[in-house]
Amino acid sequence: MVNNEIRRRRRLPVPVRPRRLSGIVAATLAGTVVLAAALIAGSQGPAPAAVACTVDYTVNQWATGFTAQIQVTNHAAPVTGWTLTWTFAGDQRVTSAWNAQVAQTGPAVTARDAGYNGALGTGASTSFGLQATYSGQNAAPADFALNGTACGDAPTPAPTGTATGSPSASPTASPTVSATASPTGTPTFRPTDPICAVALCDSFEDQQGTTPTGAWQPSFPDCQGSGAVAVDHTVAHSGSASLRVDGGSGYCNHAFALNTTMVPAVGSPLYVRVYVRHTTALPDGHVAIAALTDAADGGRHLRLGGQNRALQWNRESDDATLPEQSPAGVALSAPLPTGDWHCLEFTIDQTQGSMSTWLDGTEVPGLHLDQTPTHDIDSQWLSRANWRPRPIDLRLGWESYAGGTDTLWFDDVGIYSSRLGC
Ligand code: CA
Repeated sequence: MVNNEIRRRRRLPVPVRPRRLSGIVAATLAGTVVLAAALIAGSQGPAPAAVACTVDYTVNQWATGFTAQIQVTNHAAPVTGWTLTWTFAGDQRVTSAWNAQVAQTGPAVTARDAGYNGALGTGASTSFGLQATYSGQNAAPADFALNGTACGDAPTPAPTGTATGSPSASPTASPTVSATASPTGTPTFRPTDPICAVALCDSFEDQQGTTPTGAWQPSFPDCQGSGAVAVDHTVAHSGSASLRVDGGSGYCNHAFALNTTMVPAVGSPLYVRVYVRHTTALPDGHVAIAALTDAADGGRHLRLGGQNRALQWNRESDDATLPEQSPAGVALSAPLPTGDWHCLEFTIDQTQGSMSTWLDGTEVPGLHLDQTPTHDIDSQWLSRANWRPRPIDLRLGWESYAGGTDTLWFDDVGIYSSRLGC
């Protein structure tokens, strides 16, 4: 069962105190106007209490791993792209990220904007997230810097010696959670992984035969033809088993594995993470690789698949798509690469009537549904007023409505009330 009560969640605001910008750094970030101000302040008295940026660092951790939601606010001149850097104090290792491109060298981490969130006006904020492993303590970083200018209160006295205020104390909100196991590399979300103590996970390792049993049942929604679903004991993302689907074109060749227990146990908001590997690029015609029965829409399906060679959501009841299938809309989605495992995540929020989808840890902007109609993305979807989905199951497999075949594998399904990450 999902138990939110035992989910650790702490908010670790990074103390950020006013510090004076050095002339050189300020010039880099904000141009000559700030440089002039800094030089004047340096020669005439205390500098203004300028803060280049603030960072809010919120951690949700378990014994050997954590996710962090990081909100950065730019207090300097507008920028069209950003890079946030920091240094971990311990052995934290980032394994995935969303809404930013995150790279790590030793303890040093660099997070760059994801393109669509690069512009940050003065006073504007943006958020991104990451998942990481750790052992021992998981102290919040204390040296965030935005485009080279420090945000935090690390003791970096201004060269003219006129900084205001006294140096602040080091962050004291260091977690003191004891690790119960050492990290063993990239999490694979087997049921033995710590997050699966609270999330619902299935890696198909307990499937003995070739026909899915137990929580997963073969499902042929219309009629059974050549489409097939099986447990594959030779191909796996983790362990030695996965779900294999050989899908054909035409209604009778649709094939799914149906799970009716995991989704209802979580409710809303629903976060689904699954690794998928497939063989043939998404075709021009409409296909689905996952479907959820929407009890609030007459039992019709919410279908995640592809069209015009890019990922899309489709609402069966009225054929609305996300994104809209205009060239601009399709360009805001992404293909599903073939030949290797890829991490697919989505969330469906009944209360908000919203959805988001991530591929390999990065949100796909064309698959973002909120309550503000955006041309080329969710305007068509929102043409139905007060859409509030209530998914009650999950199908993984293949449906092709206009031609197209594929062989797919699914593994390491995780379902939870917040993002699991990849
Ligand atoms: Ca497996």
